[in-house]
Formats: sequence, C-alpha cells, structure tokens
Amino acid sequence: MAAQTRLFPCRSDNYGVLLHDPETGATAAIDAPEAAAVEKALAQTGWKLTDILVTHHHADHTDGIMALKDKYKCRVVAPAAEAAKIPGVDETVQEGSKVKVGNLTGNVIETPGHTLGHIAYWFHADNLAFVGDTLFSIGCGRVIEGTMDQMWTSLKKLRDLPNETLIYCGHEYTAANIKFALSVDKDNAVLVAREAQARQQLAAGEPTIPTTIGDEKLANPFLRADVADLACDIGMAGKPANEVFAEIRERKNKF
Ligand code: ZN
Ligand code: FE
Repeated sequence: MAAQTRLFPCRSDNYGVLLHDPETGATAAIDAPEAAAVEKALAQTGWKLTDILVTHHHADHTDGIMALKDKYKCRVVAPAAEAAKIPGVDETVQEGSKVKVGNLTGNVIETPGHTLGHIAYWFHADNLAFVGDTLFSIGCGRVIEGTMDQMWTSLKKLRDLPNETLIYCGHEYTAANIKFALSVDKDNAVLVAREAQARQQLAAGEPTIPTTIGDEKLANPFLRADVADLACDIGMAGKPANEVFAEIRERKNKF
C-alpha cells in the first residue's frame, strides 16, 4: 500500500508533514516545528506517532521534539553531523543511510549549505522527498553555515531526483520566491504560469506544496544556474554555474 502524507501549516510560515505507512501504522513527523500542531494533525488523521525524522538543527524544525518524544516514545532520527545540537536523538544518519518508517524506506541525502549537516529524506518507491530548508518551491534556503558552492552542489543532488518526485519543504515562501524569480527570469513562461497557479492556491487558502522536481527544474532559478539563457539575462554569460548560483542567491538576499 502506498504511503500517505498529511501536510499542515504551523508557526508563522513553517510546514509540518506526517508520513504514514498504512500497512504497519507507522507514522513519522518530518521535523517537529511545534508539538501542538503535530498533535493536532495526529488527532485529525488518527495516526500514532512512531518516528521523528529531523532535517537540520534549527529551532523551527526541532522545538517540538522533546514534548512529542515524552508523549509518544517515538524514535528520533537526525543527521550525525548535527546530533549534538538536536534534542532526544536516538539514531544518527548520513549520506546513504536508509531509514525505515514501518515498511517504507527512505534514503538519506546530505545537502549542506543552509546548515552544515542538513539532510533530506528521499522515499524513492513512494516518489516523496522531504527537503527541509534546502530547496523551496521556486527558491532555496539561505546559505547560513555552508558555502555557496556547497549549496549549489546540494541543490544539484536534489535536482537529479526523478522528475515525478514530490517535494515537501519546510516553509511556505512561494509567493515571495516567485516575485524574486521573475526579477531574474521574467521571460520564463513556466514561471509566469506558476505565479498564476500559486496566486490561486494561496487565495483559496491552499498550500503551494508539494511541488515536483520536474516543475522546479523548469521554473526555479536556483536550479537553473547552469542554463545559458539565465546566466545571460543576469549579465553573467559564460560564467561557471557555481558563480551564477552565488550571484542569484546574493541578489535574493538583498531583494
Ligand atoms: Zn532552517
Ligand atoms: Fe526553517
């Protein structure tokens, strides 16, 4: 039976998501932004929390861990490189580690940049990827701890996932991301169409995620730093992709 997910907004602009295996009843929270919001989603679905899969150490992804662990006795899985900064960790993982949620299997992909130990969880058989604050719809995370080159390499790893992969990210930033994206890639018809779609979704009170790798490849400027037209549009024709990426990220920081 296929995996089920439950996405819910929390805090000011975070997303929480539950991943459920209907065969075994196992349920993982991807990050724990806020215990109350996770508990509400559990109550609405009737699912019982068995695991928390942490993407990175920031408080808006980890604040709910201890309260949930105390109540549900769930297992906490976290990146080895950041385990010391994350409360309640039971199991550490790194590039290539496999994580089971019931009978569902996730692969760990290291995506340093936003933080140095940031990881994503890719459930290949279910076409799901939980990418935390590395990749956003039409955007990417701020490069806080790592280097621009690390972030570009991490984004390329995610870009290499199959086109149909559903991407669950940590925040609802899509509208602001599109505004910026149009400033560097205004002639991109796919991006223009995405703006109209996102506006409709948000007006209806719906989330703009999940997105897919296939859609992001066509419209997310941070995944298009090696597209000649885009480099040309921002006055960097012929420059290496990592430099083009860094320039786009710097412009977003100042936007
Ligand atoms: Zn973060
Ligand atoms: Fe965050």
